[in-house]
Amino acid sequence: MQMLKEAILEKGKAINQDVLLVDSFLNHQVDVKLMQQVGEAFAAYFKDRGITRVITIESSGIAPASFTALAMGLPLVIMKKQTSRIMTGDLLQTTVRSFTKGTSYELTIKREFLVPGEKVLFIDDFLASGEAAFGMLRLAKEAGIEVAGIGIVIEKAFQAGHDRLIGEGIDVYSLARVKSMSENHIEFVD
Ligand code: 5GP
Repeated sequence: MQMLKEAILEKGKAINQDVLLVDSFLNHQVDVKLMQQVGEAFAAYFKDRGITRVITIESSGIAPASFTALAMGLPLVIMKKQTSRIMTGDLLQTTVRSFTKGTSYELTIKREFLVPGEKVLFIDDFLASGEAAFGMLRLAKEAGIEVAGIGIVIEKAFQAGHDRLIGEGIDVYSLARVKSMSENHIEFVD
């Protein structure tokens, strides 16, 4: 997606060979026009597949997933990274290791929002090692729902996530695939 690649080149900052900062347009300040395009691109790719819900993980997935859900006319469900006293009832949980923070969190969702037999589309801001996506897949399996596909805004193609997910037969659609990066250089997969 050209507009996204331009934003990454103009505003993204690779702080090293592994981590890309995109907080001026994706996950701190949000370029909503760009997110609208992102949502429409995912909606066009994943149309006509009988998808009933869009799911994401707080907090960085919320902006692209919201615009995707809007473009598809579907509800959005946000998986939580921590529980709270008001989050009670029948919860599904799995431990996920965070790439950016180097820590683990309990990915949590109320069972009522993953209805058995439904098909969901998972949207996230980044795909790196695939740990977050695999956490979501474990909960989907436990809930008895099908994951119709995964939409990623920025995939770091040099990390293992893409191949791991493809190996599970998942349709992964990434709008920008970064081949390599360093402080002054970001290169995309053709
Ligand atoms: P994974 O679970 O695939 O290793 O990592 C995915 C999650 O880690 C994403 O949801 C994203 O929030 C975060 N993440 C991974 N790599 C990056 C990165 O280079 N930059 C930023 N800002 N977040 C990242």
